[in-house]
Amino acid sequence: MSDPHELTVLNPATEETVATVPAASAEDVDTAVVRALRAQARWAALAGADRARLLRRFADTVDAHLEELAQLEVREAGHTVGNARWEAGNARDLLLYAAGGAERLLGAQIPAPGGFNVTFHEPLGVVGVIAPWNFPMPIAAWGSFPALAAGNAVVLKPAETTPLTALRLAGLALEAGLPEHVFQVLPGHGHTAGRALVDHPDVAKIVFTGSTSTGREVMERCARLVKPVTLELGGKSPNVVFADADLEAALDPFSFLDNSGQDCCARTRVLVQESVFEEARAFLAEALAAVVVGDPADDKTQMGPLISRQQLDRVRSYVPEDAPALRGTAPEGPGFWFPPTVLTGERPDGRAAREEIFGPVAVLLPFADEADAVRLANDTPYGLSGSVWTRDLGRALRVSRAVGAGNLSVNSHSSVRYWTPFGGFKQSGLGRELGPDALTAFTETKNVFISTEGPAQ
Ligand code: NDP
Repeated sequence: MSDPHELTVLNPATEETVATVPAASAEDVDTAVVRALRAQARWAALAGADRARLLRRFADTVDAHLEELAQLEVREAGHTVGNARWEAGNARDLLLYAAGGAERLLGAQIPAPGGFNVTFHEPLGVVGVIAPWNFPMPIAAWGSFPALAAGNAVVLKPAETTPLTALRLAGLALEAGLPEHVFQVLPGHGHTAGRALVDHPDVAKIVFTGSTSTGREVMERCARLVKPVTLELGGKSPNVVFADADLEAALDPFSFLDNSGQDCCARTRVLVQESVFEEARAFLAEALAAVVVGDPADDKTQMGPLISRQQLDRVRSYVPEDAPALRGTAPEGPGFWFPPTVLTGERPDGRAAREEIFGPVAVLLPFADEADAVRLANDTPYGLSGSVWTRDLGRALRVSRAVGAGNLSVNSHSSVRYWTPFGGFKQSGLGRELGPDALTAFTETKNVFISTEGPAQ
């Protein structure tokens, strides 16, 4: 039985213990929120330029520890070291972007008869961030840094399997001179610490990233307190490949294998026009066989393990041994390994084609024409991401407008950047993170009418 008061962090590539950390109780969450409230009043009273200065110092401190953060992400999450370095850099860059936002959080002036209105973006207070294990560092950063820049305090609960990089970020924030208790990280279990954060009356907003089922529960609990919530949930994103596309680029297997497929934006439904379907199948068979799966700390490794035994069992449940599939190879163990896989005999309405697997598994499906491609691309309860590949610009635009998803890319698989809005349609979520409106999502807009007529007689 696992100890409810302690979290054991395992290296998913070796199953060795990396660290144990105390698990926060509901009382710990309450203490953190009370402290955060006090700290937030002083933090919000600073000029935006002063918050920006401190956040830039925080960015410099993260920059000085990039390699340490990356190595920690490799050990606790099994990310390849190349990806982990990118993630640490992403956290630093977002701090710089958010710092700029703190200096430019401006209101409007709206004329009216007898006076004028001014608007203010008031910080919300204490923001609760609940992060998942698939991208522990970037998602902690996306939820927290714009909120801090807008003058809020943050209490962050990382996933129980991956608390270490978030804890280190909080330590670096203090080193950089951010006031105490403005950015607190509380490792703990979702059903205790996570719920306590969601239910706390003094937590003004929740930012949740994770599964659709937990997201639904979080939203229901927030509704009781009329608490705003941002949800970044699952995905089952299409990769729509027309016959005229650059097939090699379009069928890059890392569009669904990156982070061992534990990526909400993974293009796990590979939709290929019938006339090039066999060519695509042959290309993918070769590409999967060439993927280097193994020690994530090795620079040459392209794909690491899954996060946990539980996730490995879940992924296995979608891929029966006799399923028609293209397969790469993976180490035997110890560690939570699953080979790169493309299911070739799946129906569009089959379980593996519709549910988020969150492993290195895609389904390959043919389509006849543009209308068929759009129908298949939209045949999912999710709507987070997707790619469209064609040399026909008109078709690229028509299809990307017709696909119901928040983050699409044309002739590219890259759709997430800290300076562009990120979020889902349908059951992929609610609200947007990042981009130009990242800070205002953590404010309430207040309008004040100022009379120029003098006091009423
Ligand atoms: P969850 O959605 O349950 O977990 C995400 C975060 O929410 C974790 O910090 C978790 O804590 C916390 N949490 C869990 N229950 C509650 C609750 N009742 N109230 C508040 N917070 C809670 O995801 P799982 O880790 O269970 O993964 C299951 C599946 O979800 C995956 O296989 C994948 O399909 C999907 N998933 C999708 C993600 C995405 O980005 N789209 C990210 C992660 C998972 P704790 O770690 O203690 O459970």
